Amino acid sequence: MKYLAIILAIATCNSGQNTSKLEPVYAPSVSVQTDSLVPAEYANGHIVPVKLSDEDWKKQLTEMEYYVLRQEGTERAFSGDLWDHHAHGVYACAGCGLPLFSSDTKFDSGTGWPSFWKPITEDCIADKSDTSHGMDREEVECARCGGHQGHVFSDGPPPTGLRYCINAVSLNFVPQ
Ligand code: FE
Repeated sequence: MKYLAIILAIATCNSGQNTSKLEPVYAPSVSVQTDSLVPAEYANGHIVPVKLSDEDWKKQLTEMEYYVLRQEGTERAFSGDLWDHHAHGVYACAGCGLPLFSSDTKFDSGTGWPSFWKPITEDCIADKSDTSHGMDREEVECARCGGHQGHVFSDGPPPTGLRYCINAVSLNFVPQ
């Protein structure tokens, strides 16, 4: 079981002090089970981001989760617990619990990583160009916490033709 001490809150003005601090924060005082879903909150039509210091991420995540989610690492193929996983449910970000993928769009890619042809919503994933390791790839991140999930390729199955190649350690499965 993975737990993350979080509460998503909007910092509000307090007696006229800190009036510029209106950005969302994690308060590391309340334990929330992040292998459950933590629905997105929206402000001005955008998912409210969460920010945690690097030090706090290290405290909240396992060493492997930190390596993949916060340092854009990659687990070894066939090493995760979700690549050959076929139950019905939702795959949520292991960093913040945001629902990212549905089992309805999961497919066997043969790569050894959980693979999906579509995110669960259009705005839960952020794409970013990644030219590391001499490759030109599209990195995918959780739109709320910025946690690295994997990459998206254009060799997936219909109807999208996309293959979201995701690290199992970046996901928590929530059966439904
Ligand atoms: Fe996240």
